[in-house]
Amino acid sequence: MKLRIKITVTGIVQGVGFRPFIYRIAKKHQLSGYVRNRGDAGVEIFLEGKEKDVTSFQSELKTNPPPLAQIYEIGTISIEGKNQYSDFTIYKSSQQNNLSGSIIPPDISICNDCLTELKDPKNPRYEYFFITCTNCGPRFTIIKSLPYDRINTTMNKFPLVGKCKEEYTDPINRRFHAQTVACPNCGPKVYLTSVNGKEICHKNPIQEAGKLLSEGSIVAIKGYGGFHIAASSIKPIPLEKLRTVKHRRSKPFAVMARNLEAAKTIADVNPTELKLLTSNSRPIVLLNKKSIFPLSSLVAPDLHNLGVMLPYTALHYMLFDKISDQTFVMTSANPPNQPIIKDNDVALKKLKGIVDYFLFHDREIAYRCDDSVLRVHGNYPVFLRRSRGYSPKPIILNEKSIHSIVGLGGELNNTSCILNDNKAFISQHIGDIENTETRTFLEEATSHLIRLTNSKIETITCDLHPKFATTFLAKKLASKNDWKLVQVQHHHAHIAALMLEHSINEIVGIVCDGYGYGIDGEAWGGEILFSTRESKNFKRLGHLEKQPLLGGDLATRFPIRIAAGILHKKIDIEAWLSENSNYFPHGKTEVELILNQLSKKTNIINSTSCGRILDAVAAILGICFERSYESEPAVKLESLAAEGRDVLNQKPAIKDNTLLTTPLLLSIFNYRKQYSPKDLAYSAHTYVAKGLAELAIEKALENGIKNIGFSGGVACNKIISDTIRKKVESEDLNFIVHRQIPPGDGGLSFGQAIVGGFFKV
Ligand code: ZN
Ligand code: FE
Repeated sequence: MKLRIKITVTGIVQGVGFRPFIYRIAKKHQLSGYVRNRGDAGVEIFLEGKEKDVTSFQSELKTNPPPLAQIYEIGTISIEGKNQYSDFTIYKSSQQNNLSGSIIPPDISICNDCLTELKDPKNPRYEYFFITCTNCGPRFTIIKSLPYDRINTTMNKFPLVGKCKEEYTDPINRRFHAQTVACPNCGPKVYLTSVNGKEICHKNPIQEAGKLLSEGSIVAIKGYGGFHIAASSIKPIPLEKLRTVKHRRSKPFAVMARNLEAAKTIADVNPTELKLLTSNSRPIVLLNKKSIFPLSSLVAPDLHNLGVMLPYTALHYMLFDKISDQTFVMTSANPPNQPIIKDNDVALKKLKGIVDYFLFHDREIAYRCDDSVLRVHGNYPVFLRRSRGYSPKPIILNEKSIHSIVGLGGELNNTSCILNDNKAFISQHIGDIENTETRTFLEEATSHLIRLTNSKIETITCDLHPKFATTFLAKKLASKNDWKLVQVQHHHAHIAALMLEHSINEIVGIVCDGYGYGIDGEAWGGEILFSTRESKNFKRLGHLEKQPLLGGDLATRFPIRIAAGILHKKIDIEAWLSENSNYFPHGKTEVELILNQLSKKTNIINSTSCGRILDAVAAILGICFERSYESEPAVKLESLAAEGRDVLNQKPAIKDNTLLTTPLLLSIFNYRKQYSPKDLAYSAHTYVAKGLAELAIEKALENGIKNIGFSGGVACNKIISDTIRKKVESEDLNFIVHRQIPPGDGGLSFGQAIVGGFFKV
């Protein structure tokens, strides 16, 4: 008996060779009908044939899809009527728009087949920088709209001819319907220019750029999601120049290693790190430096680790072709507090004075996307930034939201998030929402994501802070589109994110970061919280001691002010401040002013921030007096502590549900000449971690809760996270941390959307 059925597949099924795969298995099982892409990024298959053949087709569809495909759902319905198809056809895409939430894939690193062709002199794409196929290449960053067809991508200005067209239309070819297919004749071209944009003719501009880098030049390189600034990783002169002109005194640069072996010569690589480094997402992975570090100390100053990535495009591989350098510095090209540069004209304008050369190509970037950054705790990856290679691939939840929600995030390291059904689509990294450029980027990226996911938004969520730019934007969008507005407390969003990521109904959460606007309007950041799925049950059970931040934001920038504010409560710090007066921009005058303000208690903001306590310890230990990049003092403190041991063995002082931090700061101060900074740094970590764990455990036991979560930017700190885990697990409680979303504020939009979608108000 002949069957007629229609199958709809949702998931990552467009742009990954899914239709050719369907074509092949339909042919193999003697089925007729068609396959086509739908406008919602799903795929529709119509089959006619014998029942047993249909069954074999269905099982192969489930068990053997193409490597990059991800099937979320398969829907099957039988269709009445006579047979109509004598053959199997791949149809052009449909414009039909159904609410679904399927999505195009993220950008993917070059595959092994393409890499082999790249190096084969007989291949027409030999040394062609934009060699790709259905299994690899850019996706998210080239797509302007759905369906994912060439016409809707930035490849549309390169008409397919000759061999490329043949391959594109040949169902058994690896490039069948590969929207990025191109060759040196018909595809994008790469070219090298001087700093003024004047083309420098060369047979192989990429290999030439590699040589220039090796010789000490700084080159801006256009990649998939934006520009990188590249430089030698061993020569001090270009690095010094880069640090001066980019105003990056000590913010670490990531490096690209020519291959895994090269990466292993500069850093230790454990099996989990290896898997991440070589995955087709190709993120930057923070690795522990080798004890004898062969690169310039200017690459990642005063840190025990550095960000390493492997090449992910043909262009990257070719940079290393003709030179012996094992690594290059590769940092994203973004002017301070602005998004990564993606357009050639903007690059020319904004990178003048920074770089010596440009390596351009003439394919536009539709949407920018920074590199992702991860580190590994134990055997698990921790996202510091979830962007290229991951975004916009959704996080699949175990439960479904009835409404579609958008979360706009907070202020720093921001992302936005669309929650649709059981899928949460977190945008690429947007950055710090401090100026028009990033605000515009946030708006554009969010509306693009809404379009791509075909979402009918009903609710918009944002932070509780009344003055965040994202709060204003959310209010504006809510009234413009008639969406419901839900404001979510910062740390509530962090903990809600953790709950839905792990399908938990009740939790005691430790949430530690730099700053979040509290329910009482004060500055929070070292919190023990309780949460269920009802927002009214959200409670603050405990916190770190409130400490004075002298001068508000100034204290964040100059952490010695935080230390001064805390120590001043107990001891005379005049002599100590005077000793260190040269670390204050206004020297002795500023010290006097500070002492005056402390005694009069003026110009002080109180905060329970955990980040600020670590900053204060860093200042007392003399590691960092001025913060030049986000989390610098705390990150340097962790690096120092990596080799340390607990010499203080100080019992955490807990009083009235408050972990006191003044005793810690006093000990650090009093013993600063007796013990080594690394041991004191480690001791400070354990004090904070043990204290937080004790307080959380006490609250969990009191309330009969089995789960203790850890979220917020401080959860990226390995020593603190490991120490809390040990304590929590020794009490037979579950320790819950983020696996798929960043613990820091990059995960905030997700948490806000979660509260909007799953929490009873
Ligand atoms: Zn490929
Ligand atoms: Fe936060």
